[in-house]
Amino acid sequence: MPHAPSPLLDPFGRPITYLRVSVTDRCDFRCVYCMAEDMTFLPKSEIMSLEETETLCRRFMAIGTRKIRLTGGEPLVRRNIISLIRNLGAEVKNGNLDELTITTNGSQLYKMADMLYDAGVRRLNVSVDTLDPDKFRAITRWGDLTKVLEGIKAAQAAGLAVKLNTVALKGVNEDELGDMLSWCGDQGIDMTIIEVMPMGDIGGEDRLDQYLPLSLVRTRLSRRFTLQEIPYRTGGPARYVQIAETGRKLGFITPLTHNFCESCNRVRLTCTGMLYMCLGQDDSANLRDALRAGGEDALDAAILEAISRKPKGHDFIIDRDHNSPAVDRHMSVTGG
Ligand code: SAM
Ligand code: SF4
Repeated sequence: MPHAPSPLLDPFGRPITYLRVSVTDRCDFRCVYCMAEDMTFLPKSEIMSLEETETLCRRFMAIGTRKIRLTGGEPLVRRNIISLIRNLGAEVKNGNLDELTITTNGSQLYKMADMLYDAGVRRLNVSVDTLDPDKFRAITRWGDLTKVLEGIKAAQAAGLAVKLNTVALKGVNEDELGDMLSWCGDQGIDMTIIEVMPMGDIGGEDRLDQYLPLSLVRTRLSRRFTLQEIPYRTGGPARYVQIAETGRKLGFITPLTHNFCESCNRVRLTCTGMLYMCLGQDDSANLRDALRAGGEDALDAAILEAISRKPKGHDFIIDRDHNSPAVDRHMSVTGG
């Protein structure tokens, strides 16, 4: 087993071992809380090549990154993405990375699941906000639930562990969350429920109309299910319980009602090579320029300098006085 570098610590002593990489800002869906329907995407010339992305991932691995998650936009619609997945997956197989995971809307899984498993991926987060096909179309604007569910089946058949990511949306899927949890139990799937975060302009939609506090969701679910506290942690923002009735885990991501920053172990790389040290803050470092300027040492120095600026936490708020984005960029740019 190769010797793992000692983990990189940020100014608050948090080991930074997890890199999330948005490989594209484009997507084949237009979820109402994520994008405007007529979303303007970045010019292709600004997007890093997959080779550049891989070089950056390798530099992060050299300074202590143990886990990489590919996200987007929709990562699986990026042309030739499987080549990057195979190359990073090889690093999992040889012990240089603990895990390579993907967050996807599931639209391509029906044809890519086997390839992902062969490449070394073992876990996927698939985002599904409703099991009602019409509602699914209304939330995603362009998505086809049947295809996504077929994709989840294909992923499980290929040997991939699937977790469902569900954004809680007031008046849209709030009555369905219990049934979805039960469905996840039947499918052998864990579930994470996410609070809407104020990121990016989403056209005519109103954040306050979408926002449903998870404290309320939790109270409602606990009337139907037995939620057992468990110490399970991923270093991420989710807090988990076990559902006694199904034996599956349920996570809550509550950036607005619970501050999760104290255990943050991650930084985020965009498809243009900007490194964001916090999802909810604007400070970033331009690693693409550092990469193109050449030299591993300069690049490592740029990464270390950026991490030395990782802030203590974020300041997301949604209320009547704060109904505009806390940060201007969309979740699809930084990667969810
Ligand atoms: N396209 C992939 C997907 O949907 O899974 C990956 C990217 S997407 C930006 C990652 C996650 O962020 C999804 O689970 C999505 O539901 C969530 N998301 C997007 N915009 C959000 C917002 N404003 N608040 C909370 N979650 C959001
Ligand atoms: Fe696309 Fe994912 Fe955003 Fe939906 S949440 S529009 S699937 S990037």
